Amino acid sequence: MAVGVLSLQGSFNEHIAALRKIGVKGVEIRKPEQLQNITALIIPGGESTTMAKLAEYHNLFPALRDFVKMGKPVWGTCAGLIFLANKAIGQKSGGQDLVGGLDCTVNRNFFGGQLQSFETELLVPEIAATEGGPSTFRGVFIRAPAVLEVGPEVQVLAYYSVPSNNSAESKSNSENQLETPVSKERVIVAIKQGNLLGTAFHPELTADTRWHSYFLKMAGVVTEQSSNSIIKEEYFSDNRQQKNDLPIFQW
Ligand code: GLN
Repeated sequence: MAVGVLSLQGSFNEHIAALRKIGVKGVEIRKPEQLQNITALIIPGGESTTMAKLAEYHNLFPALRDFVKMGKPVWGTCAGLIFLANKAIGQKSGGQDLVGGLDCTVNRNFFGGQLQSFETELLVPEIAATEGGPSTFRGVFIRAPAVLEVGPEVQVLAYYSVPSNNSAESKSNSENQLETPVSKERVIVAIKQGNLLGTAFHPELTADTRWHSYFLKMAGVVTEQSSNSIIKEEYFSDNRQQKNDLPIFQW
């Protein structure tokens, strides 16, 4: 069973490498008909406006929407999360097409621009309970979105507590004219709704493959046992002590 990675732009190679680490072959997806041959899809991070233009050019939106509507598993990271959101704010003028499916509102550049990119340890109770390992996950946020509002079907998997000296929120408020109230202290950065998963950060840029194996289990691509043993072997025994070091992405 093949897992597709939308490969128009952004960190698709890194996702394919992370899948390879846990013994799953990722297939590059660039054309609508290629979606017929995969059981699950990852939409990577990158730049959602650019990705949307390319998706439009390749006539991918109808096929992507059908894929989601059919209940197939889809995981969006960062720009991919924006793609999957039912509503995005802070878009370039004229907006952009979204695939939709996740009952949430995202703010596209919630934390600011490239200079406001950061890394942090996120509490990930659901991931730790399902995949084992530590209770935290290294969240890499690059011009990252945040989820401002979720519908009743959505399960929140991780929050980020905005430091009190961080001006990102007031900046974001004035730039993007938030239409929905958001907690000053805490925003949502990972969600799940049925077969859809969304993370505002980039797990494919870390050596920790737990989000990938979590998604693959959701998708029924790997079994509990196989993925757990791979994680222990590949990450926690060798790389855990280097978790704060950069660069963290390795082929
Ligand atoms: N904020 C970016 C966008 O709008 C997403 C950034 C990312 O994927 N790293 O596309």
